[in-house]
Amino acid sequence: MPSPRIKHVRVQHVDQSIWGHLAEREKTLPLVTPMDEYGQFKQERGSWFWDSGAAVVEIETDDGIVGTGWCEDGCCTIKPIIDNHLSRLLLDQNPLEVEGLWERMFRATIPYGRKGIALMAISAIDIALWDLAGRALGKPVYELLGGPVRSSIPVYASALHPVDPQKVRQEAETYVEAGYTAMKARFPCGPGDGPAGMIRNEEHIRNIREAIGPGVDLMADAYMGWNLHYAVRMCRRLEKYDLAWVEEPLLPDDLAGYAKLRRETPIPISAGEHEYTRWGFQQIIDAEALDILQPDLRRCGGFTEAKKIAALAVSAGLTLIPHAYGITHLHFVAATPCCPMAEHFPLPCWDAPPGGDFEPTFLGEPEPSGGSVVLSDEPGLGGVTINPKLLAAT
Ligand SMILES: [Mg+2]
Repeated sequence: MPSPRIKHVRVQHVDQSIWGHLAEREKTLPLVTPMDEYGQFKQERGSWFWDSGAAVVEIETDDGIVGTGWCEDGCCTIKPIIDNHLSRLLLDQNPLEVEGLWERMFRATIPYGRKGIALMAISAIDIALWDLAGRALGKPVYELLGGPVRSSIPVYASALHPVDPQKVRQEAETYVEAGYTAMKARFPCGPGDGPAGMIRNEEHIRNIREAIGPGVDLMADAYMGWNLHYAVRMCRRLEKYDLAWVEEPLLPDDLAGYAKLRRETPIPISAGEHEYTRWGFQQIIDAEALDILQPDLRRCGGFTEAKKIAALAVSAGLTLIPHAYGITHLHFVAATPCCPMAEHFPLPCWDAPPGGDFEPTFLGEPEPSGGSVVLSDEPGLGGVTINPKLLAAT
């Protein structure tokens, strides 16, 4: 039987984030960010963050099988990278040769790649190739990754923005009632808020811990908004709340700071959503900078690279919990022993989805029930698609 060949590579930008309602709502929700000390950009993430947007990549074979992948695309840069460069490394190649295709795309983009947007483009292509392989072989991606190691995927509720304390309390209680056994909050303050902000950070965590009791895991995300001195002081204040981890307290490149922080606090430290490739994660491991690695398959290099990052995590004795929700991460966690759970973005009980023309970014995405997700055995990524209304609107 002749090998399939890639005949078409199509890329489309859509004006909506792969994070769906969370991206729209976080433009104005309170949370600390890396711009904490710059007053002009302090109050709202929407004042400085890139525009919402996604790139959808379709790869079609000569026998008409189409695989679909996606990544963030706030600056509309993914289509030119793929159309002007990467597509020529893909056309007429065998789409099932994912290792070689990844290697050639990575090597070809070294002068402008290695991290950031070029790796997002490679990630979207790699995800499309794995979806395509599943469709060609009639198997779900988690089977191609080695088969399921768990029959359902636990997810943690990731929201709990620092809004009115009574709302936060109710929100936390709804997650316990829904069956979540872990949840993650966002800190409100960083060094720009001074000592009073430390009290606000602690009050947010105390409020949630009191609402959920001791038998539920609680984590909290500082979204790169602290510095080492602040993080050490803050973690000391938080130790009595038994946090499962503090996430991204420092900028991603401050590996020395992360390593020092880990030596100063018993709270596990996580990060990795802004890191790329096996080489980036190897540097984290070599620096003993983190306890939990959080790569995002839509950034770090897709399934092909995430498998290697997971192997590094295992041999370093680390846990891997991918960043953010998505069908890619559900398939990956299903098949990867060192990944105990995935992240989920529930809509808080006190909030409503954005109004106007807002549509879900994906159709067919499985939703958790009782704090976990069960995947179908449909081929590829289980028929999850970008909402055609968004595609038609661009
Ligand atoms: Mg995070």
